[in-house]
Amino acid sequence: MRTVFIATGNAHKVGEIRAVLGASYSFFSQKDTNAVLNPDETGATFAENALIKAVTWAAFFGTEVCTLGAGWVLADDSGLEVDALGGAPGVYSARFAGLDDGRRGNTPDAENTAKVLRLLEAVPDAGRTARFRCALALTPVQPGSSPDELAAQTRYFDGACEGRIARQGSGGGGFGYDPVFIPEGYSVSFAELGESVKNQLSHRARALVRLKREWD
Ligand code: IMP
Repeated sequence: MRTVFIATGNAHKVGEIRAVLGASYSFFSQKDTNAVLNPDETGATFAENALIKAVTWAAFFGTEVCTLGAGWVLADDSGLEVDALGGAPGVYSARFAGLDDGRRGNTPDAENTAKVLRLLEAVPDAGRTARFRCALALTPVQPGSSPDELAAQTRYFDGACEGRIARQGSGGGGFGYDPVFIPEGYSVSFAELGESVKNQLSHRARALVRLKREWD
């Protein structure tokens, strides 16, 4: 069985990845290790940021001091693109509110979401189109390999989910922008639809299905 380290501290992402990939893999994630590696996500694209996370963790697991047994590192970088905002928040999705006041690091989901709603206040329903995007980077753990060699071995899978931004948040499920994102073909938010529906059609689910198809 493949042992996969999911390079995130986001329990929702871990849950969605486990649910879609299924029981034929053995998973662990950041909460299972005491190591704290927080690489700066300086990429201009989701794929670049996923690569930074995957290679940082794969290089760490390749060292002799760490023997948790991961064979592969899977990193997810994802976010929301709103057409009326020129594709923002994009790679800044997790820290969108903090861009205004110079805060470092991620800002609370409620603040990021409130900012999107505020910026779209005057935008009519037809102009509220948006999509979630997810880039996955899958890197093997290879003791002795340099970060450049690990990057060269990395495989990428992506997925998108089209939809629109609601006028206000609703629903208690999911995380991030789920309460304000209504996927195409539905009239309620991801947060209202719940996990099992989200895992059929989300950006992350689509990227994971591609990974599974090409990797199995
Ligand atoms: P990352 O952890 O650096 O990839 O940041 C991803 C950010 O994008 C999250 O903090 C959320 O704000 C947003 N995001 C990504 N995927 C989802 C999702 O499935 N639902 C809601 N928000 C998401």
